[in-house]
Amino acid sequence: VDVLIAGAGIGGLALAHGLTADGHAVRVLEAGDRLRTGGAAVTIYSNGAAALAGLGVPLPEGLGGRIDLLEIRDRAGRRVSRMDMSVMRNVTGFAVTTVPRERLITHLASGLPQDAILLGRRVVGAEPTGSVRTADETFTADVVVGADGARSAVRTSVLGSPPAAELGWTTWQGLTPALPEIAAGTTGVLMVGDAGLAGMMPAGDGLTQWWFDVPRPIDGRSVAATLRDRFVDYAGGVPSLLESIADAQIGRYPHVLHAVPDEWGAGRVTLLGDAAHAFPPSQAQGANQALEDAWLLRRALAAGGDPARRLREYERRRTPRVRRVSRLAASERTNRPANAPARFLARLVPARLAGRGYASLIRSFSSVLHNEQVSPAGP
Ligand SMILES: Cc1cc2nc3c(=O)[nH]c(=O)nc-3n(C[C@H](O)[C@H](O)[C@H](O)COP(=O)(O)OP(=O)(O)OC[C@H]3O[C@@H](n4cnc5c(N)ncnc54)[C@H](O)[C@@H]3O)c2cc1C
Repeated sequence: VDVLIAGAGIGGLALAHGLTADGHAVRVLEAGDRLRTGGAAVTIYSNGAAALAGLGVPLPEGLGGRIDLLEIRDRAGRRVSRMDMSVMRNVTGFAVTTVPRERLITHLASGLPQDAILLGRRVVGAEPTGSVRTADETFTADVVVGADGARSAVRTSVLGSPPAAELGWTTWQGLTPALPEIAAGTTGVLMVGDAGLAGMMPAGDGLTQWWFDVPRPIDGRSVAATLRDRFVDYAGGVPSLLESIADAQIGRYPHVLHAVPDEWGAGRVTLLGDAAHAFPPSQAQGANQALEDAWLLRRALAAGGDPARRLREYERRRTPRVRRVSRLAASERTNRPANAPARFLARLVPARLAGRGYASLIRSFSSVLHNEQVSPAGP
């Protein structure tokens, strides 16, 4: 099958690997003049890591920082809950890892045929018959995949829906050698209070990924200074972290949401990842779900038969799982302090039991951990 993928992000590149391995002809049209590598780090959970392995591009040992324990604390530093992430690793065979985005994109881009990625090609529209337009070229293919992110031109063109809407929350994030005790360990810490959430994860190579999820905008003054003011009464490493960072090291990511439609495309065109279902990063599943999509889409195209039917079946299978994550992420409930009874109960749950519960939740979002099939006979 001749496949055009719009967007050389995490999902598009991962899909290109799986399809190339199956012998399909793949071209990836990327708007940027080089691959987009900014954006600190992402946490790849066991479902995303399993999808990467299934697409023939497993996360190499030692890439990023392994997370064995996730601690949730209140702003005073008191423990609310602890989740043992090694449970997920033991159950699935895949660890939880925070990986600098630049390293992940570089890893995904390597090993593809040299001419597979066409840079500087901003897609402006697509047709259900299997064509894609840039400002001055038209490309045709058997299958078109819009993997062009939350502002997807393919989605707008084929579904007629507007870009993802902003929800009001914003993540301010970065990746620096701050907090060496976090960077050198395998524990991620999330501190939640009225100002929002302060997150800190080991990301490998002595780096800490840190972020601040805040409900109110920051306008017209230094971001670092505003965050220092708002998070002044947070304990742990938060004040020293905020002292160590400058505005130039902080990236802004407004939280956005798409409705997840029943059908993600039309005819020979489908969507993948944020183009289909952008949601806030509060469940750290956006990249993982993009990888899940790529994994199932590869299976759908391997099933043979009419491509349009296979694409609709891929969408039908992914929709309920993605909707579950999207609803949870859009509630932003992990960014708000839990009430006192909920905190009390959470403290009583042992880390291994909490880890088991989290592993089940991730499994409920996952096609790859259920080894879902797309049958050539259709639904
Ligand atoms: C602050 C923050 C933290 C996050 N943390 C996590 C995390 O810990 N774990 C996790 O799983 N997810 C996380 N996410 C979500 C994750 O980054 C995204 O869900 C994921 O990158 C989506 O992958 P994608 O391939 O669909 O799109 P993207 O990675 O956005 O890639 C889209 C690509 O398409 C290109 N493009 C855009 N428009 C066009 C066009 N018109 N024509 C051609 N190319 C185009 C872009 O340049 C880009 O290369 C986070 C997101 C944010 C904002």
